[in-house]
Amino acid sequence: MSGTGPSESTEVETPDARLEDDRTFDAIVVGAGITGLHQLYRLQEAGLKVRLLDAGSGVGGVWYWNRYPGARFDAESYSYGYFFSEELRNEWTWTEEYAGQPEIERYLNFAADRLGLRPNIQLNTRVASATFDENEHVWIVTTEAGEVFRTTFFITAVGILSAPQFPRTPGLDQYSGEWYHTALWPKEEVSFAGKRVAVIGTGSSGVQIIPFVAEDAEHLFVFQRTPNWVTPINNFAITAERMAEIRATSEAIYQACLTSPSGSPHSPMNMLSTDVTPEERDAQFERLYQAPGLTMALGNFRDISRNQSANASLNAFLANKIRSRVNDPEVAEKLIPTDHGFGQKRPPLENGYFEVFNQPNVTLVSTVDEPMTSFTEKGIQTTEQEYELDMIVFATGFEAVTGSITRMNITGKGGQPLDEYWLDGPRTYLGLQSANFPNLFYVGGPQSAAGTIPRITETQVDWVTECILYVLENGYSEVTTTTAAEDEWNDHVNEGIKGTLQETASSWAFGSNVEGRRRAYLLYNGGQPQYRQKIAEAKDAGYAGFVFNK
Ligand code: NAP
Repeated sequence: MSGTGPSESTEVETPDARLEDDRTFDAIVVGAGITGLHQLYRLQEAGLKVRLLDAGSGVGGVWYWNRYPGARFDAESYSYGYFFSEELRNEWTWTEEYAGQPEIERYLNFAADRLGLRPNIQLNTRVASATFDENEHVWIVTTEAGEVFRTTFFITAVGILSAPQFPRTPGLDQYSGEWYHTALWPKEEVSFAGKRVAVIGTGSSGVQIIPFVAEDAEHLFVFQRTPNWVTPINNFAITAERMAEIRATSEAIYQACLTSPSGSPHSPMNMLSTDVTPEERDAQFERLYQAPGLTMALGNFRDISRNQSANASLNAFLANKIRSRVNDPEVAEKLIPTDHGFGQKRPPLENGYFEVFNQPNVTLVSTVDEPMTSFTEKGIQTTEQEYELDMIVFATGFEAVTGSITRMNITGKGGQPLDEYWLDGPRTYLGLQSANFPNLFYVGGPQSAAGTIPRITETQVDWVTECILYVLENGYSEVTTTTAAEDEWNDHVNEGIKGTLQETASSWAFGSNVEGRRRAYLLYNGGQPQYRQKIAEAKDAGYAGFVFNK
């Protein structure tokens, strides 16, 4: 039976009987990152009995786990935080345009306290499985510690870049030195001083940590498989005056985020690169190179991300920048991407990255020229030689977008495991639900999220909250979607990436960074405003594409 339309009410009666059982919930949210905390806040505010589970010992999500040296925002600090709360906006002071991980973690702890979320957060709790009980219409959620919870609604807010992945190279168990993954970085200080260190991976995480390792290590070996188009972050401190201005213009900043495709204060220039002379075009590129953050990617000429030859002109400009910053011409050429153009993959931002390769204690090792064959007791064996190492840092990324969800071993109706259902790529309707997985919602999941994540997940959080209230108020036991609605959304998602320059890239957005994974587009390329419009339309049409059962 289809719903007839959303209700305006936000208060729901929670039966006393359920309150007495501390293992039974209206909703369980997984993930204490910026999205999960917001989802908890909304459900708590609506009067539901809700618990948030997180594997970490603190809140913060990716900003809890990725505590490696150099980890910082690539998005403007004040564009990433919560806008819904005036108190949070007025009480929090950002100190840098692109805040470092410790500051971001402090912000999310501040938000958890200020919003009164702690009583409903259970930390140190990793979900082991979630199985839908068709008779009771509840999810049975088990944890690795053996706890069992029952919940009507199960909401994943686990992030799209939070399931770390390692190379399939054998022998790590033989290696006797220290090793770390950037996304599982320990709280204790890790010293690189006087050590021979390898960093594997040159994506955003690798590019951020490498200058810090290079500063202290006796020798740093950078194991690079694919070079990236890396541009300067040009970070700067936020003064008291500027913070006052940010607060005063907060609404305007928010509106700029809401109207931009990326959910950031940046929008592409209203101009093509061919509207100007090559000299004027290069002058714009130079301006963008000196500009802060992702301006180069998000505030460029409109055709840079769409037109091959426009894209090539920027690639030539950036290649020359690398040549001008790296002394050894051979090393410089190895650092210049040849398999993709700027913006086909999410570009990392750097601070002194290229100059690292001018240091005598740094060696660039191309795993294309000399593939890694095994980890050994002493280090890494390649086809050419053994590298003896005191430490290996894996900056090797994630089983992106779906990995964090499927690793929870979710089983829907008819004993259908979600990881099998998604074997050929994710299937969702509006990125919110999958057929035969009733009352399971994804916030910040596949086929929905791209750009500044909190700006899109806040819309999902509100949508999911209203949908849950609608289910409860109307006495339904289940909300789910249909395979027909999923097909329609899949077609729309795939249509949106077809013919773009990104479509041909080998990137985590297609899962192609994980060996053996089937290629499928995992995000949504229609831009945040269009996504927002799509989910609002479905709701306004009486939750079109969703099915409600008593
Ligand atoms: P990533 O972009 O996937 O980079 C992983 C790196 O490891 C790549 O260079 C990859 O090479 C390499 N790699 C993976 N497996 C390998 C293997 N078997 N052998 C050799 N090299 C291997 O991951 P990430 O750097 O963690 O970043 C992922 C995303 O997280 C970013 O794109 C960004 O969206 C987000 N992030 C954001 C921030 C920020 O906002 N400040 C910071 C960090 C990350 P290939 O390219 O050849 O696959």
